[in-house]
Amino acid sequence: MAELPFRVLPKVTPLNEHFWTGGRDGALRFLRCEACRTLVHPPQPRCPGCLESGLVPDTVSGRATVATFTVNHQAWLPGQDEPYVIAIVEIDEDPSVRLTTNLVNCAPDQVRIGMPVRAVFEEREDVWIPLFEPADD
Ligand SMILES: [Zn+2]
Repeated sequence: MAELPFRVLPKVTPLNEHFWTGGRDGALRFLRCEACRTLVHPPQPRCPGCLESGLVPDTVSGRATVATFTVNHQAWLPGQDEPYVIAIVEIDEDPSVRLTTNLVNCAPDQVRIGMPVRAVFEEREDVWIPLFEPADD
């Protein structure tokens, strides 16, 4: 197995643990408001839609669409493998929920806005980083 590129890892807290550890089960999870069903991300104590505090982790399909992207050619940190793709993807269940992520298993010149992608997870210590790859089916 190839050595993984350097990555700054997130700090896992009780509020965001569902997001950073969902990949253990292959699941992309967001908080969902029990009152109005809104998906809430980044994690926060109250729903920005209705201000209720009853937010519970919910699993989504992991399918998303590339909203925009850039190809990085600069090695900003030691151990990074460039070029790599930084993308903002919109979650299929609610396109207003966006993740800034890397696209993997895809040549940078093959990436297009509007491309369907799906979540894959990169395990690092106790976190599972959600990355996205082309969804061919
Ligand atoms: Zn709500």
